[in-house]
Amino acid sequence: MPIDPREPYDPNNIFARILRGEIPCQQVYADDWALAFHDINPQAPVHVLVIPRGAYVSWDDFSARASAEEITGFVRAVGAVARQLGLVAPGYRLLANVGFNGHQEVPHLHVHLFGGQPLGPMLAR
Ligand code: 5GP
Repeated sequence: MPIDPREPYDPNNIFARILRGEIPCQQVYADDWALAFHDINPQAPVHVLVIPRGAYVSWDDFSARASAEEITGFVRAVGAVARQLGLVAPGYRLLANVGFNGHQEVPHLHVHLFGGQPLGPMLAR
C-alpha cells in the first residue's frame, strides 16, 4: 500500500532498519550522507536504491527540512553511484515516488536508479 508522506517518520521502517544494520542489503555504495543497495525486486538489469542517512519520509520532507550539507551530500552520492556503476555513458533513469499517486511504499526517502538496457518511455502509454 502507498504511504501517506505527511505522516511522521517511522524509525522502524525497512530502510531505517537497513541503515542500522538490522537487516542485510546488497550494498553498492556508502558515505557520510547516503547508502546505496540493490533493490530486492529489480525492475531493470540495474536497479539500485539510494537513501539519505537522515530520517526523511520523502523527497517532499527532505527538500523542506534537510540541511544544505545533507542535500548536497545526497545529490552527490546519487551521481557517484551512477558513475561507479558505469551508467553515465549508456544512460540511466532516476525516480523518486512520493505518496499515494506516486505509489511510494517505503516511508524513507529513496531514489531508484535504473539502467542496463533502454528503459523506454517514462510512463506506460
Ligand atoms: P517505492 O514504491 O516505495 O518507491 O519502492 C520501494 C522499493 O523498495 C521497491 O522497489 C521494493 O522492491 C524495495 N524494497 C522493499 N523492501 C526491501 C528490502 O527489504 N530490501 C531491498 N533491498 N529493497 C526493498
